[in-house]
Amino acid sequence: LFIAFEGGDGAGKSTQAAELATALESRGLRVLRTREPGGTPIGEKLRTLVLDHGHGHIDSRTEALIYAASRAAHAEQVLRPALERGDVVLTDRYIDSSVAYQGAGRRLGADAVRNLNDWATAGLQPDLTVLLDVDPAVGRRRRTAGDAAEDRIESEADDFHARVRTAFLELAEARPELYLVLPARLPVAELAARILDRVGALLA
Ligand code: C5P
Repeated sequence: LFIAFEGGDGAGKSTQAAELATALESRGLRVLRTREPGGTPIGEKLRTLVLDHGHGHIDSRTEALIYAASRAAHAEQVLRPALERGDVVLTDRYIDSSVAYQGAGRRLGADAVRNLNDWATAGLQPDLTVLLDVDPAVGRRRRTAGDAAEDRIESEADDFHARVRTAFLELAEARPELYLVLPARLPVAELAARILDRVGALLA
């Protein structure tokens, strides 16, 4: 079972992935938690490359290709092997993040970015995507000071984050059976319970 957590910055994706992992492990399931960009040694280097201000300006197509390269390594080296072992795989961000940030945010186009990433991952799709929908202004306040240091996106204009949010919601609306959309402002425990409910149904 392959589950992706998606949503804007500060939506609480990692918190919910951790909550779900704990709940599933306590039921005796093997869980692999991972994240993008990153998740492999090459992916972590690419993460630094794309998120670090120190490298200067990165144009949008280069950025999209770096995310796709990180994802290709992640899919091949981490996600597929874990799924083949029978682990439940939880990833913090996946293809939808690129469709939203690079496709809509940077205006490269949803279809182009989707096609690039379908190729990069040889078509590996999540069984369920949990979309934590967050108002960009709220998300910004929720970001921790520690994260902000590596965060290039933090400085993007409000309309960029508004486009990202809309793109995530449109992806979910197009394939509702593959999504669980929840308002990120709900209490952590309530979000966790609703996510476990849906995932439990998939495991039954
Ligand atoms: O999920 P996390 O906060 O670690 O992501 C790091 C940064 O990368 C965030 O600012 C996010 O907005 C950005 N990002 C992006 N395009 C992606 C994935 C993440 O701009 N495809």
